[in-house]
Amino acid sequence: MRHLQQHVVDEYEGCEYDSDYSDASMGSDLSDNVEVDFGILFDVDGVLARGSSPLDPAKRAFEKLKDAQGNLRVPVAFVTNACNRSADKARQIGNWFNMKVQPDQVIHAPTPAKLLRQYHGKHTLVIGQEYRLDIAEDLGFSNLCTIEDIKEAYPLLDMVDHENRVRVARGEYTENPQFPKVDVILLIGEPCRWETDLQLIIDLLLTEGKPTEAPRDPHNVPQLPIIACNMDLVFMAEACMPRFGHGAFLVCLEALYHKLTGKPLKYQNLVGKPCEITYRFAEHTVSQIARNMGITRPLKRLYFFGDNPSVDIVGANLYDRYIKRRDSNGNAYELPVSRLIPQLDDLHEQTVEDCHSMLVGTGVYKHHPQEEQKSSSPTSKSHVYHGHRDIAHEADLSTPHKYVHDVYEGIEYIFKRESVSLT
Ligand SMILES: [Mg+2]
Repeated sequence: MRHLQQHVVDEYEGCEYDSDYSDASMGSDLSDNVEVDFGILFDVDGVLARGSSPLDPAKRAFEKLKDAQGNLRVPVAFVTNACNRSADKARQIGNWFNMKVQPDQVIHAPTPAKLLRQYHGKHTLVIGQEYRLDIAEDLGFSNLCTIEDIKEAYPLLDMVDHENRVRVARGEYTENPQFPKVDVILLIGEPCRWETDLQLIIDLLLTEGKPTEAPRDPHNVPQLPIIACNMDLVFMAEACMPRFGHGAFLVCLEALYHKLTGKPLKYQNLVGKPCEITYRFAEHTVSQIARNMGITRPLKRLYFFGDNPSVDIVGANLYDRYIKRRDSNGNAYELPVSRLIPQLDDLHEQTVEDCHSMLVGTGVYKHHPQEEQKSSSPTSKSHVYHGHRDIAHEADLSTPHKYVHDVYEGIEYIFKRESVSLT
C-alpha cells in the first residue's frame, strides 16, 4: 500500500451548502490500494434508511465506497441510538447495500457499556423490552435479573398494578426474601408499562438493592450505580408527532427520585449518542476495522453523518471538542462524572484529531437556508431544549461542520475534501 498525499480543507465551513471543492481529478484513485487516514461513521435511520427501506442516495453512496470486488475502500461503522441485536442490524444493513457488515461494525446505544467491565459480574437489573437479556449478555453482563424477577420476589411492592393488589388481598403470593441484592441498574431502553418499573426501581434505589425493609432515612441512602443507554426524549416514527423515547422514561425516574429524596438522581454512566463515550467507542471500532483492512496509518479524521442536529451533530461536535481539549493523559476537560470515558488498554489508541459533523436533510432535519440564522440563534424563543440534564444546552453544538442534502452528496464532499478520486 502506498500513502495518499492528502489535501485537507481546514477552515470551518458552516452548514451552508458549498460546492466550491478542490478538483477531484487531482486526487488519487482509492481503487489503487491506497491507504486512507480517515473513517466514516453513519447514523442509520434518516441517513441510510427510513424504517426498513434503504434510501437511494445511500445505495449510490455505498457503490462509491466499494471496490470492484464489493469490499469497502474506507473504514466505516454504523452508530445508531436504536436498541437491537447487533447481528440483526448488521445483516439488515448488509442486505440493503449488498455488502458484508460485521456485527462489531454496528454500535447501538448500549454498545459502549462493553467498556464498563467493573459492573459486568455484578447482579444487574436490566430494564428494556424485547431482547434486553440478550443485549445485556452481549455487552458482557453475566449476572442479570429483570423487573419480573423483582416483582415475583417482592410481591407486596407493586401496588400500581391493581390486579396485583387483588392477588395480594387474596393472599395469593409468596415472598422470596433470599433474592440476591441488586448491585447495578442497567437501563437499556424504556420498558413496556412504566409504572411498575418506576415503582420498583425507586424501591431498589431507596434500599440499596434489597427492598425487604424501609430505609431509616430515605434522604441519605447511598445510591446504586445506574447506567443509562440512549437519552433521546422523543423520536419520529410513523405517527404525525414525535413519540416518547427512553429519555422520557429517564425524566420520570429523575423527577420521582428527586421528589422522594430531595437529591438529584446520579448516573454512573450515560451511553449512546450524544455522549462522548459512544464516539470514542466508534473511533476505536473504525480504527480496528482500518487495521483489519491492512491500513497502517493512524486515522486522523472522522466524518459523522447524522440527520438529527440535537443528537448526532451535538455528539460529533462534543467529541471534536473532547479530542481537542483532553490533556496528555487522555483525561477529559470538565465533564460530568456520567460522561467520563474509561481509559482502557484494549481500546485502540485515540488518534483522530478532527471529528467532522455532517448533517443530511433526509431525516429529522429539514433544511431552510433562509431560516438558518434565526433558528440556530441561542436567543430563539421557539427553542425548547430536549437534551439530557447532564448535557448542558449549547445551541452552537447543533450546528454541523457541513450540511449536505443526502449521504451521497456527503461522500462526494468527503472524497473531494480528502482529494480522493471517485472512480
Ligand atoms: Mg437518525
